[in-house]
Amino acid sequence: MERATRRLLQTSKAQVHGIGVDGESRCAHYHTPLDIVAIKMRCCGVYYACKDCHIALADHEIERWPANQWKEKAILCGACGNESTIHAYLAGGYQCPTCTAAFNPGCRHHYRFYFEDLVPAQKGDAG
Ligand SMILES: [Zn+2]
Ligand SMILES: [Zn+2]
Ligand SMILES: [Zn+2]
Repeated sequence: MERATRRLLQTSKAQVHGIGVDGESRCAHYHTPLDIVAIKMRCCGVYYACKDCHIALADHEIERWPANQWKEKAILCGACGNESTIHAYLAGGYQCPTCTAAFNPGCRHHYRFYFEDLVPAQKGDAG
């Protein structure tokens, strides 16, 4: 009985690791109103608020998600607590596929730290 209750609570909002993480998964590094996305790291299967939090707290290198695994649910919206697939996130136009909360378009400059096999953005967009 107690175990079932706990599992329900966890599915409603996964735990996000990071430094100074608030209730919508902002962290000490990224904390504008739009920085509400947490990413599950492929290496450890743990949600982190950002890669810098992973660098600070994990004892290993980030492993990136190859395109053939983008159907995995590895994106957590801090506003609604729902998980999305990487594919839905990348195709979603900088908003949550579930609740349409706005995400930070600037995050695309960091996609390469989390996802492999990205189609290159505009040339000269070194970010
Ligand atoms: Zn990791
Ligand atoms: Zn961070
Ligand atoms: Zn959402």
